[in-house]
Amino acid sequence: MSLGVYIHIPFCAAKCRYCDFNSHISDYSERKLYVSALCDEIRNFKNDDMQVDTIYFGGGTPTILEPSQLAQILNAVYDTFNVDKTCEITTECNPATIDKNGLELLRSSGFNRISIGMQSANDDELKFLGRIHSFAECEKCVRDAREAGFENLSVDLMFGLPRQTIETWKTTLRKAVALSPNHISCYGLKIEEGTPFYSMNIDIDEELSRDMYDICDEFLYKNGYGMYEISNFAKSGCESRHNIKYWKCDDYIGFGAGAYSCVNGVRFSNVRDTNDYINREGKVIDKYEQSEFDKISEYIFLGLRMVDGIDLAEFKNRFSKSIYEVFEKQIEKNIHRGTMIIKNDRLIIPKKYLYVSNAILVDFV
Ligand code: SF4
Repeated sequence: MSLGVYIHIPFCAAKCRYCDFNSHISDYSERKLYVSALCDEIRNFKNDDMQVDTIYFGGGTPTILEPSQLAQILNAVYDTFNVDKTCEITTECNPATIDKNGLELLRSSGFNRISIGMQSANDDELKFLGRIHSFAECEKCVRDAREAGFENLSVDLMFGLPRQTIETWKTTLRKAVALSPNHISCYGLKIEEGTPFYSMNIDIDEELSRDMYDICDEFLYKNGYGMYEISNFAKSGCESRHNIKYWKCDDYIGFGAGAYSCVNGVRFSNVRDTNDYINREGKVIDKYEQSEFDKISEYIFLGLRMVDGIDLAEFKNRFSKSIYEVFEKQIEKNIHRGTMIIKNDRLIIPKKYLYVSNAILVDFV
């Protein structure tokens, strides 16, 4: 069985104003205890000969840890699982938290893909978001990562930001492409409850965001980056293998505070609080077998985020029934409206409707 492994690092140097992820500011001793608990959790995992083909360090900011600590965690994964020779091993990275030596150490310890949180090429926008790096630092980080031997590199961008204009967004896209990453993720800003932006009553101009999304799709396509999922664009062959596992509901195991797992239709998640996690107070807090309907619904919801949609034969093979047996009316309604099509035996949401796919998919949950 092939498996993805996710490692959660719940620490950041500072909290961005829009972020509701499970992360906080920490000191060295907390991080040290966390790394030790994390390695224990990985090494104690009962592994029935699972073959790991993707590993992803996310957060938080994984690179807030010492590179040697990241290597220590990766070694625990190597010691516990059979890791494919061609395994995609990614770490997310904040440009202000790592230097060239650190990147070299990561590369030599087995990391082969890096995902850099660039977000914007405009320093005023970065500052307003609460990011701790400048665009110049991001450019340097990309250069250092290349020199350290990372051939597979992704950058994250954000649109729909307060104070962002079409012109500054175009500049961000142009400067991102000039860095020549293999992969670009573009996320529209969402205002999440409990964040500083929520308290500041920041409004999002939905129409402007939509225009920015369309500009991004067109510009990236012209520059050799194909959209393969609502928010993700890649040069051919450089799609994120790990994230595709999530969208295809393939098996993955998450380690660390608040990490989610899904293995053979059983979902479970770790306790979210870092102290509780370190102290082992009921590590696994939620574990349930998904109903058949939940599995199908999730498979459709996530699969239709991808540009090439769902393979109908694969669906039948997986669930021993045709998709029409479950959602005939909903599919017919959407095909009639033009918001879904069947092409090459695949069910697809046409690209022009992907941006509003959540609204389309409410019928399927
Ligand atoms: S660096 Fe990422 S995880 Fe950390 S606060 Fe900012 S957005 Fe959130």
